[in-house]
Amino acid sequence: KSKGKKQAKAATKQSKLNAVLGAGIMGGGIAYQSAVKGTPVIMKDINQGALDLGLSEAAKILGKGMQRGKVDATKMAQTLNAITPTLEYSTLKDADLVIEAVVENPKVKGIVLKEVEDNVADDAIICSNTSTISINQLAESLDKPERFCGMHFFNPVHRMPLVEIIRGEKTSEETINAVVAATLKMGKTPIVVNDCPGFLVNRVLFPYFAGFSKLLIDGADFVAVDKVMEKIFGWPMGPAYLMDVVGIDTGDHAADVMAAGIPERMARLDNDPVTLFYKEQRLGQKNGKGFYNYG
Ligand code: NAD
Repeated sequence: KSKGKKQAKAATKQSKLNAVLGAGIMGGGIAYQSAVKGTPVIMKDINQGALDLGLSEAAKILGKGMQRGKVDATKMAQTLNAITPTLEYSTLKDADLVIEAVVENPKVKGIVLKEVEDNVADDAIICSNTSTISINQLAESLDKPERFCGMHFFNPVHRMPLVEIIRGEKTSEETINAVVAATLKMGKTPIVVNDCPGFLVNRVLFPYFAGFSKLLIDGADFVAVDKVMEKIFGWPMGPAYLMDVVGIDTGDHAADVMAAGIPERMARLDNDPVTLFYKEQRLGQKNGKGFYNYG
């Protein structure tokens, strides 16, 4: 038994340098998580402001850790030094594992993934943090789809233990093993799932959000619904607050993709408050107003 274990270990490549594309809510969180668990990480965006925000969010989390006595000044400096912000693709050439976390748009992701493939080493692994887009569809933009899979973190990355690893039809076992190893190194719990609309978590979550929207259209009060789910049903947060955390734009777009993917389980409705908020640019916590207002 132990011999088999050793062999499996030898076959699995450990990433010495990670890279994250996109320094937003998720990309910034993934970069922090990689750095704090000891794997240096390149954080690439197209926008210097996003890079600055990504770094300052990491500093904020570390600062809170210091207040609670869990992080000392050395750990803080080491972690921040392990994140290299950049606007250049060329810096990806030494990365072993690249995680794409740009906007939830298949066209943009296709272009970015191809650009990544053109800039990384032949044996580098490429993942997407997409919430809803088919991994098989995204794999079509790559010359070597066997080195590609989904690596889906949850928000906020530093607090949520789960990572869904999504196997596309062409993903190799070697790729899955390496991404499982990288997930464990980041202190997270991996589950491997096949490609399907919403993977595991969002397949459960989005019909629930659709049920919530229908309740509101029928006249329910979102604060009351949140209260019931939190205080009586025992969930850590209700659907309105969760949608604000996810981001109304991301949530609205993901709901469209999910309704197209599992029409027998959910449909988009006219007057969905999530779509109305999106039109009004009430994007949730990211811009300070969604279902709730954030000072
Ligand atoms: P976000 O809007 O906070 O950040 C996206 C970032 O991507 C921005 O900083 C933007 O400048 C950058 N970007 C856009 N085009 C780029 C390019 N060509 N190259 C590099 N950077 C580029 O979005 P987010 O909420 O972090 O979502 C990112 C991805 O993670 C999406 O696929 C989303 O579905 C997924 N996701 C989101 C959540 C969530 O709760 N928000 C949870 C899990 C997964």
